[in-house]
Order: sequence, then C-alpha cells, then structure tokens
Amino acid sequence: MITSRHRPERTCIGCRATVVVDGLIRLALLDGRVVVDQRRTLPGRGAWLHPDPQCLRQAMRRKAVGAALVNRRDMGRSVPIVDPEQLADQFASAIREATRLTPGKPDR
Ligand SMILES: [Zn+2]
Repeated sequence: MITSRHRPERTCIGCRATVVVDGLIRLALLDGRVVVDQRRTLPGRGAWLHPDPQCLRQAMRRKAVGAALVNRRDMGRSVPIVDPEQLADQFASAIREATRLTPGKPDR
C-alpha cells in the first residue's frame, strides 16, 4: 500500500514553484535578521528558495523574503532585517554547498 516515503513540498518564494523540499534552501530568522539556514535547524517559520540567485533576486524584489517569515499578525510590529549583500553571500555559499553534495558530480 505504501509506495513511497512522504516527501514534503514547499513553494519557492522567488519563482512560486512548488517543489520537493530536498532541493531548496531554507531562510529563517536569527535575532530578527534573515539568514540562510543551511542546516535547516533554526526554529520558527522558514522561507524556501531554489538554489538559484534568480529566485533570491525575485523574492527580494517582491519583498517576499521578510514577509514569508513573519505571521501576518506580527507584520508592522516586528519587521525582519534583510541585509541583501549578506544574504546574497550566504546564499551563494549555500548553493556551492548544495552543488557539492549533489551526487553524480564528475569533479569529485
Ligand atoms: Zn525558485
């Protein structure tokens, strides 16, 4: 009866595509600041993005990054700090990490 393991899906806040969570990078809040949660261990809400700088840029342009991480009720009370440069840096290294961990890469 059970044919496959449950694979949770999330929506990329950049391009809005829904994909299996394994392939996505998690963003979360740390002391009110948006950070890349590479180990996916930070508590609270997470926002998910493809490991693609385009998706980060799209999310930033729509201001979806902070919005995805707070409850609507908390909006206006606590606005997450988004440091675009720092976030882009962290995101780039998360992409490198994800790429390195992808099986079947010839340069191993
Ligand atoms: Zn995306």
